[in-house]
Amino acid sequence: MQYHDSMISLVGNTPLVRLHSVTEGIQATVLAKVEYFNPGGSVKDRIALRMIEAAEESGALKPGGTIVEPTSGNTGVGLALVAQRKGYRCVFVCPDKVSTDKINVLRAYGAEVVVCPTAVAPEHPDSYYNVSDRLVRETPGAWKPDQYSNPNNPLSHYHSTGPELWTQTDGRITHFVAGVGTGGTISGTGRYLKEISDGRVQVIGADPEGSVYSGGSGRPYLVEGVGEDFWPDAYDRGVADEIVAVSDKDSFQMTRRLAREEGLLVGGSCGMAVVAALTVARRLGPDDVVVVLLPDSGRGYLSKIFSDEWMSSHGFLDEGEGEARVADVI
Ligand code: PMP
Repeated sequence: MQYHDSMISLVGNTPLVRLHSVTEGIQATVLAKVEYFNPGGSVKDRIALRMIEAAEESGALKPGGTIVEPTSGNTGVGLALVAQRKGYRCVFVCPDKVSTDKINVLRAYGAEVVVCPTAVAPEHPDSYYNVSDRLVRETPGAWKPDQYSNPNNPLSHYHSTGPELWTQTDGRITHFVAGVGTGGTISGTGRYLKEISDGRVQVIGADPEGSVYSGGSGRPYLVEGVGEDFWPDAYDRGVADEIVAVSDKDSFQMTRRLAREEGLLVGGSCGMAVVAALTVARRLGPDDVVVVLLPDSGRGYLSKIFSDEWMSSHGFLDEGEGEARVADVI
């Protein structure tokens, strides 16, 4: 019989897929690491599994314990998926600006979700930060993974994503490109690839314009999951050789092209990372192999990036783009 013992054993070992259309005119081989093949639909399954298993080993998480994390997105899904199999309770704290669809996904996996008002100061007792800290203090057996400072976030990539890329490319990878959020992906994968290649592999971070990694102050941007207004501990400042800043408009237009031209229905941070990867790949020759990591699927963004109305209301569609498609239908 061929089967997996549980969904947990499907975490990692995601495929590499060559990009063809968006790479027109580029000589280098550009490969996408498609992380929506993880069982929870994103790269964050990797960190959830390792953070939980390390906490079990250290005794920070005991049988029947409760995982409390301020998260509304992919990390919550990963944690919920691993937690249900292992018999832990999950309580996630989300600000009220998070879409009900995202909250319902977490609840569907059996997690409890506490929604906090966005319109209060961080020191207010009902703020997102205070509620999660209070829940940790007051819940017996509570453990907070804290992906921003947990060393097992970058370590999960050092032990899985990095070795996978080295094996999948037969050691021929020359450039690795990833968006930077907590910094776990680029730090762990980048460090592994630097070590195994004696520093030959170049590591490039993709960052939304305005975020700290590319020299900004945290100015708002709309691409989700990447960029910060502070420097997390999970980010190793010594790994990236270069950071490429990408605008929301370029990120979202590329995201739409990936769906239409490459069959990759992926999220906005994927479009952003591909824009950065192509910027680098344009400078390279036929022997170079650029790998760009695509963190999640586009299903969570249908009413934003894939909606013409939303795109044009933010000025992200070029002249006539949305209308042309309406005319096609008529
Ligand atoms: N894209 C998306 C959609 C994410 O959720 C995240 C994680 N915050 C990232 C990119 C960035 O990954 P990392 O936190 O490892 O830097």
